[in-house]
Amino acid sequence: VAKGAGKNQWRRYQPALHTAVLDRMQLRTDLDQAVPSGELAVQYQPIVALDTGRLVGLEALVRWHHPARGLLTPAQFIDVAEESGLIVPIGYWVLERAITDAVAWAGELGPDRAPYVTVNVSVRQFRCPGFVDRVLRTLTDAGLPPERLVLEITESLLLRDDDRVWTDLAALRAAGVRLAIDDFGTGYSSLSYLRQVPANLLKLEKSFIDTILVEPDQRSLVEGILRLAHTLGLAIIAEGIEDPAERQVLAEIGCQFGQGYLFAKPMDYDDMIKWTLAPDTTI
Ligand code: C2E
Ligand code: MG
Ligand code: MG
Ligand code: MG
Repeated sequence: VAKGAGKNQWRRYQPALHTAVLDRMQLRTDLDQAVPSGELAVQYQPIVALDTGRLVGLEALVRWHHPARGLLTPAQFIDVAEESGLIVPIGYWVLERAITDAVAWAGELGPDRAPYVTVNVSVRQFRCPGFVDRVLRTLTDAGLPPERLVLEITESLLLRDDDRVWTDLAALRAAGVRLAIDDFGTGYSSLSYLRQVPANLLKLEKSFIDTILVEPDQRSLVEGILRLAHTLGLAIIAEGIEDPAERQVLAEIGCQFGQGYLFAKPMDYDDMIKWTLAPDTTI
């Protein structure tokens, strides 16, 4: 409609545009209140061993119970949170919640069966002064062993020309916290980069998985990434597995871990515990 539209038609767009801007501003104002008003929540999505279906980890994913708009997922507010800087307090809130919950589920599931928890960390939060100290202090205060926490970082963090990022990553690793590279394959990190990153896990972006059954090249590509990762001592978690055939192929080519709707969607804490304790959890 826009193309070739006259001035009159353009003017018709204005109210909608205006509404969108106001909408965003309102969301930004509301988000200010979200942490203090207790409107945020965390859901947990299982990460499983692809061969046996055994639960190995849980990813913490933030949710916002907006007083007027209902349940919002990150797609609806993470941009606003990043732009405004509110991602920092939100990120710390999620980190604390997830660590506290991880201590609680170790009690419910028994220390041997207790999965690790993964927490997403934005570049902005990671680069905040005092980030490493705060993570380690939160672990100590809650009494969670550092090995049970995995921080999910993105390739964009590694591309920052900032030495402190690298010393901080090394400090976390030295303290026993594990690191995962999230959405691997969507960024620009070169393979030589991977060699230097003190990560333990690679989370392979869903788009690689989506095409693995239909595009013959894709399977070889993922096999290559797997081989490289294993050479570097990194384990791979395949993201967004929805189809049993995808799981099958991934397991065949040696991918150890996976996550996706095939196994479970993100769940509230109580549902997650029920899911975990259900006798048919081994998928
Ligand atoms: P992510 O870290 O890559 O998380 C995986 C996303 O994929 C989640 O979306 C999850 O619900 C979704 N997913 C999992 N399995 C499947 C599947 O089989 N099919 C499909 N279609 N989707 C699947 P969610 O919870 O909406 O989160 C979106 C993104 O928001 C996350 O992507 C992450 O980048 C960001 N995010 C979530 N929580 C936090 C947080 O606490 N802090 C920060 N900084 N970012 C967060
Ligand atoms: Mg993630
Ligand atoms: Mg991801
Ligand atoms: Mg993703």
